[in-house]
Amino acid sequence: MRYLILSDVHGNLQALDAVLADARRCRFDETLILGDLVGYGADPQGVIETVLGLHPIASVRGNHDRVAAGISSAADFHDQARAAIEWTRRNLTASGRQALEAMPEGPVDVAPGLMICHGAPFDEDHYIFDTRDAWRALSFDVREGEPPTLCLFGHTHVPAAFGAAPRGVSVLLPDPDPTDEDHAQILPWDRTRGMLVNFGAVGQPRDGDPRAAYGIVDMDARRLIFRRVDYDIKTAQQRIIAAGLPERMATRLDRGA
Ligand code: ZN
Repeated sequence: MRYLILSDVHGNLQALDAVLADARRCRFDETLILGDLVGYGADPQGVIETVLGLHPIASVRGNHDRVAAGISSAADFHDQARAAIEWTRRNLTASGRQALEAMPEGPVDVAPGLMICHGAPFDEDHYIFDTRDAWRALSFDVREGEPPTLCLFGHTHVPAAFGAAPRGVSVLLPDPDPTDEDHAQILPWDRTRGMLVNFGAVGQPRDGDPRAAYGIVDMDARRLIFRRVDYDIKTAQQRIIAAGLPERMATRLDRGA
């Protein structure tokens, strides 16, 4: 079984299309959605329809999905994010809004030893950036008598991996796959300890690399594959500007920031 992992698409249909073309080449069986399908980008409805067409076997909502669905207010959003989410709400069909409304709060169990969340397993809105946050998340997820869990998360838009260690948490760094001409990065899935992994954002990367980021979890080979894909950034930017969305939503895509 190979799971395709998509997080933080944020209405960027150009990035999503490029990721799906790449993922089909690499092969996957089922899709997992880690939240924030909408917000920031100019194609929320197109993204929702494309994702529904993948028939994901598990999804969790993100904070932007929740606000766009009308479940919570945009009071904690900064001005530009609020302007973007209000635009998004106006530009969704009823079925698009219903699809967002139906996305559950994480964490969600996908398979034995595998779960997904948007921010952190203990709070869907919490950002896991460092080992302190990771330690809290890994401690949260220890289940008596059960094997350690791999928890996939998003929300920060920055690829990262952490593993439970005898004293706290270690940062895990994937290695370039020598057999892969696209220089995908590989991390072995160590089933003897808890792991927390973020493959990065499809639609608005913030790690300085503007390429779309996504992941594949290979359950049989026990490999976590971090992939980056070039996409048509120009078109995504033009659509954001033409929609009257805040200009920074377009300019940041070039910088991956
Ligand atoms: Zn996000």
